[in-house]
Amino acid sequence: MNTTLTLYDTRSRQKRLFTPADPDNVRMYVCGPTVYDFAHIGNARPFLVFDVLFRLLRARYGAEHVTYVRNITDVEDKINARAAERGISIEALTEATIADFHADVDAIGCLRPTVEPRATGHIAQMRAMIDSLVASGHAYVADDHVLFAVGSLATYGALAHRSLDEMLAGARVEVAPYKRDGMDFVLWKPSRAGEPAWPSPAGIAVPGRPGWHIECSAMARTHLGDTFDIHGGGIDLAFPHHENERAQTLAACHVDEMANVWMHNGFLQVEGRKMSKSEGNFLTIRDALQMGTGTELRLAMLMTQYRQPIDWTQKRLAEARALLGHWADAIGEGGQGGEADAAFLAALSDDLNTPLAIARLSELAKEGDPSLGPSAALLGIDLAALAAERSAHTEAVTDDMREEVEALIAERLAARKERRFADADRVRDELVARGVVLMDGKNADGELTTDWTIAK
Ligand SMILES: [Zn+2]
Repeated sequence: MNTTLTLYDTRSRQKRLFTPADPDNVRMYVCGPTVYDFAHIGNARPFLVFDVLFRLLRARYGAEHVTYVRNITDVEDKINARAAERGISIEALTEATIADFHADVDAIGCLRPTVEPRATGHIAQMRAMIDSLVASGHAYVADDHVLFAVGSLATYGALAHRSLDEMLAGARVEVAPYKRDGMDFVLWKPSRAGEPAWPSPAGIAVPGRPGWHIECSAMARTHLGDTFDIHGGGIDLAFPHHENERAQTLAACHVDEMANVWMHNGFLQVEGRKMSKSEGNFLTIRDALQMGTGTELRLAMLMTQYRQPIDWTQKRLAEARALLGHWADAIGEGGQGGEADAAFLAALSDDLNTPLAIARLSELAKEGDPSLGPSAALLGIDLAALAAERSAHTEAVTDDMREEVEALIAERLAARKERRFADADRVRDELVARGVVLMDGKNADGELTTDWTIAK
């Protein structure tokens, strides 16, 4: 692939030429779901965006040369609360939620990541990182908690582009008497009876559990190394979650950077309003799949460039449906194979400019260009399958319709023979309403016959 790839990096605040540290192993980490409930469509956005990037990286570097890690947070206080509320075990809740999550992301056409680590499977690695942070003075023990000392890291705030004082002024800081600095954050905390618990690090006698931020640092380090190429997630995670992940990794691993590119997708709102349960416009992926197919949902989201806010509307979904129809009709059942179109690739490689890439697909469809299929495949859209589905649907409708029309015609002929003309007229009106054109005649034996066709 000749096109250069540029990606917007939140830390340096610029679009940068992407050069992987090792082109034989391009490494990407994306923060995955906390598994306590159905994912909403705002959660779905990063999974879709980074799925497109995953596909593009695989096309550029070879599928076997890309490692995509997306974690599952299966230990977190929201999970404990929900399991208690529902009166089920934490494991029953997380297992069921993970199965639902997989069904949802499969339905919207996301490839499974290369590795999907679970936090509960990496407790030892978290403890090791915490011990080394305490040993090097970047963390301290207080009241059976371990806290990260933000003042110990000179570049804390580099992602948020804010100084400690500014962050403190703007943040809703959890006030705790044992914190040395208001911005210090929890690496480990003690567990009460009934809460998930593991032996604590740093010589703490009571069992405890990890904080959310250290989970990602430990899982990323385990599967991708101390520094890797791309770290992604929603813009709402940039601060404090990613800032804290970065701080932990830099301090524990003695590296200058955790990820060479930090990518964040924009917010999602529904019909012009912020999505919330109190607004009554809270939409899960499951709900959205009642409104359209997974492919329609996917395209509707990709019609907005990933850094821009999305306004999720029914109108947008209808636009996506119409576009997919045009493309599928253009491709017929053939048209796969060959390479993606150069202009399409250039658009996608320019910081995932999906709106421009989609406009190019429509041009290719208009021109009947065979690169339409392989280009759409990079967005995770299988046009050949869609075309086959549509033609199967058309045939099915035609067959059903033929049966119905012929049954009605037989009914009308019987009525005419029995001189029940009002009934015959009623059936004729029904056929005409369905777009059927009737041609009455007689056969060689002088019996009434009716041929029919569908009005164009
Ligand atoms: Zn994370």
